[in-house]
Amino acid sequence: MTTTLRIPESLKPEDGRFGSGPSKIRPEQIAAIDAGATTLMGTSHRQAPIKQVVGSIRDGLREFFHLPDGYEVALGNGGASAFWEVACASLIARRAAFGTYGSFSAKFAASAANAPFLETPVIFKGEPGTFRLPEFTEDVDTYCWAHNETSTGVAAPIHRVPGSREAGALTVIDGTSAAGALPIDIAETDAYYFSPQKAFGSDGGLWVAVLSPAAIERAARVESNAHLEGARRWVPPFLSLIEALNNSRKDQTLNTPALATLIMMENQIRWLNGNGGLAWASARCAKSASILYSWAERSEYATPFVTQEDARSTAVVTIDLDEQVQASQVLAILRENGIVDAAGYRKLGRNQLRVGVFPSVEPSDVIAFTKCVDYVVEHL
Ligand SMILES: *Cc1c(COP(=O)(O)O)cnc(C)c1O
Repeated sequence: MTTTLRIPESLKPEDGRFGSGPSKIRPEQIAAIDAGATTLMGTSHRQAPIKQVVGSIRDGLREFFHLPDGYEVALGNGGASAFWEVACASLIARRAAFGTYGSFSAKFAASAANAPFLETPVIFKGEPGTFRLPEFTEDVDTYCWAHNETSTGVAAPIHRVPGSREAGALTVIDGTSAAGALPIDIAETDAYYFSPQKAFGSDGGLWVAVLSPAAIERAARVESNAHLEGARRWVPPFLSLIEALNNSRKDQTLNTPALATLIMMENQIRWLNGNGGLAWASARCAKSASILYSWAERSEYATPFVTQEDARSTAVVTIDLDEQVQASQVLAILRENGIVDAAGYRKLGRNQLRVGVFPSVEPSDVIAFTKCVDYVVEHL
């Protein structure tokens, strides 16, 4: 076991949080909770003050994503994982197709495969470190993949599968670690859903979904069982997208939300919009990511895990280390020095660093991160 190595203060980032979710929360977001310590925290989510926070989130996201006419912002409890079940219950009519290329994209596909009322999904499987988009398939009514595969640091393109819209199929995109960080044309999606603890630097437990008119219409039809001749599908209220949407339209959620999550997210969206919105945020993330990728390419002991350059995420950056340098050891020393959560995804099982470079992270701190890693490796 190594004795603790002290990284010189002059090399350290100002903020040592580099997680891919939960991710860095800006001090101003914590201050926003404090500012609402007696006026928002511990008050009813059915009353005007919290409803105004939710309203500001919905309006702010409308501005941030430049929502086309008719698109709406819905939210509910349970995070993106809960939205997978909402989508199985309320959006997929009979059969979905999935692109799977990592843990998160595969989990949604597994949910659909296990839903007894759905037909076996069509899976387009790619290797970790690449992406694979679903292809047009007869009888498929919903196409699903992840914008940013957080487990591998892969970003996939978001455009409708050719012919899918004409066939009446929906495009349902997991934007969890992409939303707020990667550019997106929302018109290419029918449901773009995410949790707030990644690029929105808030806390977990909530899902947010940007819905097209086609998605809303589909949910209404599926939930009324109008698409079925035979057995009725049970859609529990907690998994009903229409229930969630009806509450969202009143700036509420079906059941009690975590108020701190809402307050921090509202603060973050105003901060992002005030700085120039998605264009600003995605450029900032791209800058931070390129600092890491070019450092790894110059490095003697590090290489970007994702070889195909246009698949490299600019939100979650994965860097492989040489066999001689043990990532677990580097990470332990970084943690002892207050630089935390840059571990690779456990189940991917690589000798890897994984760095969340969401908008809240200062690009100057990313430079400092690379210097700290170099310092640690030199002193191993
Ligand atoms: C984090 C993550 C999820 C899960 O989000 P929860 O809020 O924990 O449910 C799903 N998909 C992707 C791409 C993620 O990064």
